[in-house]
Amino acid sequence: MNRKIIISKSKYLAGLQCLKYLWYRVNASEEIPEPDFTARFIFNQGMLVGEYAKKLYPEGIDLGKIGDLKEQLVRTSELLSERKPLFEASCSSGSVYSRADILVPADTDRWDIMEVKSSTKLKEDYIYDVSFQKYCLDKAGVKIRKCYLANINNQYIRRGDINPGQLFKKTDITVEVGEFLIGIEDRIEEMLEVAARTSPPEILIGKHCNEPYSCPLKDRCWGFLPDNHIFNLYGSKDKAAELFNKGVLSIKDIPDWYNLNFKQKIQLECAKTEKPKINKSEILKFINSLEYPLYFLDFETFSTAIPLYEGVRPYQRIPFQYSIHILDTIDSKLCHYDFLAEGAEDPREELLLNLKYKIDEAGSIIVYYESFEKGVLKELAEAFPEYSQWIDSILTRIVDLYKPFGNFHYYHSSQKGSASVKNVLPAITDLSYEGMEIADGMAASVSFLYICGNFVINESRPAKEEVEKVRKSLIKYCGMDTGGMIHILRALVKEVE
Ligand code: SF4
Repeated sequence: MNRKIIISKSKYLAGLQCLKYLWYRVNASEEIPEPDFTARFIFNQGMLVGEYAKKLYPEGIDLGKIGDLKEQLVRTSELLSERKPLFEASCSSGSVYSRADILVPADTDRWDIMEVKSSTKLKEDYIYDVSFQKYCLDKAGVKIRKCYLANINNQYIRRGDINPGQLFKKTDITVEVGEFLIGIEDRIEEMLEVAARTSPPEILIGKHCNEPYSCPLKDRCWGFLPDNHIFNLYGSKDKAAELFNKGVLSIKDIPDWYNLNFKQKIQLECAKTEKPKINKSEILKFINSLEYPLYFLDFETFSTAIPLYEGVRPYQRIPFQYSIHILDTIDSKLCHYDFLAEGAEDPREELLLNLKYKIDEAGSIIVYYESFEKGVLKELAEAFPEYSQWIDSILTRIVDLYKPFGNFHYYHSSQKGSASVKNVLPAITDLSYEGMEIADGMAASVSFLYICGNFVINESRPAKEEVEKVRKSLIKYCGMDTGGMIHILRALVKEVE
């Protein structure tokens, strides 16, 4: 007996990215890895933003709470006659099914689609998303007048309670949606045909594995690539895709005549020689620019779509933790301080006050990727003008340890084309972030929000012991960022001795 395959909005978007991914979504979803902690947080943010968008229409009727799909469809068709805004209204026709975030009555018998997104920018896949909804609604006989996108207005500043009217900005995307509707029927037909197959289609890996989203099946599909593979080539992925399509899997196999830029040439050379490439004079210049004592500084921040505190914008970075290591000479004993906010209150002023007493008036302040730390400090100066003079003096002392690596003055193949501290540390020292409970900045911010109760999983808050465990992991992680920088600098010094 033939199975009835239904293409929903999420499956349609999966199919647009890759038909193989769609096949797994339909036929073997158990083989798709579960979303991790960070992905769940992003999903949770989206849900929260959706709840605020509903407040734009206080008279709206929410169908999202109805768990049963059939009942949802029945209730939606019943409620259409009431001409009130509908949240999560469902429709189905033939082999397609869709839910609209908000359907707003437009005139006597038409509706506007309002798609809610937690990002601040209009992205192409949102248009595909809404065009699918419009297609389903048209087929189901629901007349659509206009299509809108409601996304986050990053100029909004929280004053008192969240004001949904100011939090969202509305964009009319009716014309773009119309353009993206061209050919939709054929695309859906093709998806239905592929989804009905007994095995996944043969699809080569490529740029599409990361666009618009990183595909969760990458471990499965990319597993055959060698360690220093072609997609680690620095810069635009077009070149990597072109080489891959010509059969080049490994960087070391790129033909000598191939047009590579300066950094890519270094990658090729290192892959062939299996030795690091070191520009001693540039590294020496960097080392000589440092003034002792050295302060190695790192912030951890979080940002949320819905500002948590007074005077804060959506997605504004809120520093909640820092680590600072101080070194009087390159070989001296380390002095270490850190700060990790307690509770859910705005941590910024306490952090600033605490930091001010740790940094004396002279010495370089070393960070890794200065635009981040400088950006955080500038935002702090804006929010707390009484500290701005001190912050300005700090900003002039910042030195970016990323630069020797970002400029490829030091490069080792094991960095895999990246100058991030996570890749540089194990390449140049015997340390690494591997196996750490918290091993990247996003995990740190989500973990902090979790222990503060600003990100709730399965409606439960962490127990005291769990909070303590997470705090220890956060301190260890941030300390690794600054401690690791010292090891990197010492390794650079050794290289030029
Ligand atoms: S990893 Fe790439 S090829 Fe594999 S399913 Fe995902 S998008 Fe398709």
